[in-house]
Amino acid sequence: MSPDPTPKDVLIVGGGPAGLLLGHYFQEHGVDYEAVERGKIAQAWRSMRPGMVLLSPAVPGTDWTSLTLKHPLWALPGVRKPFPTREDFLCYVESFTREQGLRIAENVAATKASVTPGGFLVSTTAGEIRCRFLVLASGASTVPYFPDIPGISLNPHVVHSCDFVHCMAYSGKRVLIIGGANSAAEIAIELAGTARVTMCTRGPMRYFSETGALDDIRGSSESVLKELFRFGILHLREADPIVSIAHSKVRFRSGDEREFDWILCATGYRPQWIPVEGGELRMDEDGYPVISPVGESTVRGLYVCGSLARFNRRCAFIHGFRNYIEKVFWDIADRV
Ligand SMILES: Cc1cc2nc3c(=O)[nH]c(=O)nc-3n(C[C@H](O)[C@H](O)[C@H](O)COP(=O)(O)OP(=O)(O)OC[C@H]3O[C@@H](n4cnc5c(N)ncnc54)[C@H](O)[C@@H]3O)c2cc1C
Repeated sequence: MSPDPTPKDVLIVGGGPAGLLLGHYFQEHGVDYEAVERGKIAQAWRSMRPGMVLLSPAVPGTDWTSLTLKHPLWALPGVRKPFPTREDFLCYVESFTREQGLRIAENVAATKASVTPGGFLVSTTAGEIRCRFLVLASGASTVPYFPDIPGISLNPHVVHSCDFVHCMAYSGKRVLIIGGANSAAEIAIELAGTARVTMCTRGPMRYFSETGALDDIRGSSESVLKELFRFGILHLREADPIVSIAHSKVRFRSGDEREFDWILCATGYRPQWIPVEGGELRMDEDGYPVISPVGESTVRGLYVCGSLARFNRRCAFIHGFRNYIEKVFWDIADRV
């Protein structure tokens, strides 16, 4: 991509589901935009576990995964139903991007933005881009999060769930999984029977079938997990958090001390975005940008969308944020 001296109306940072959907609205309505993606489109999904089954269904009538209901994922031939796989989703976003003719510059990372009169100057690995409106669609799962436990940092026995590749590396090993949410559940199931797995949670385990809370959805894992606990194939230390780790030795709040070969933190991620110079981008207490009801940040002309835009907690998922992207689109389109 060669640097363009003419300012774009809109620059989108991120070619994940949110950036693609926003680009689609601009494209459909003839608004001048450009999007940059530091990897391939939907790079965050490419880095997830091969064969992973989504938690959000995609079938007619209950479609929580498609970017728009006009372009449904379930209509692609061969898609797994009701829960698609990561590969189905990647094929879908590839075909969505191609069919809509979206303008996404791949392998171009934005590195910083500066507020300028009338817009922004964005530095990227392929040069500088000027734009009137800037949208951060760079996702919320940016930095692997490790819990604040004494002895955890630089410990060679500790890994993050994002580095889990395959159960064969853990064969016969004593593995402690910290966390009780989706990644914890999926990895525990994958390791069951191969490693000696203990799952450890801070509070009581929560199941969607019991709480009805969307945060507790475990997709196809919930019933399998319960059975594996009942069989004793997986061990659960419920509401018994770790207080300290010394090398491979773990001390729990109950006072119990155990040794593990691997301590796997399935403790999620924290958002991080490019630095914005010359503007005060305020954050909420969870580390997300403070936004208006149409997604504008505290820096005028700088918008946030997708999982980085916490209109509400459901925005961590596609069905939670897809309607809000239309609001971001209309607000910018009205001002262009
Ligand atoms: C293990 C796991 C399983 C999940 N399962 C589901 C599910 O089943 N259903 C569901 O709806 N959601 C699921 N999610 C949540 C899912 O990640 C979000 O729904 C969705 O991907 C968010 O889209 P996004 O575009 O906001 O962010 P992302 O998908 O994170 O996309 C952001 C993009 O921005 C790019 N980027 C970041 N920084 C820069 C930069 N500086 N310059 C250029 N590009 C940049 C990234 O490479 C990435 O491609 C899951 C998440 C995880 C971690």
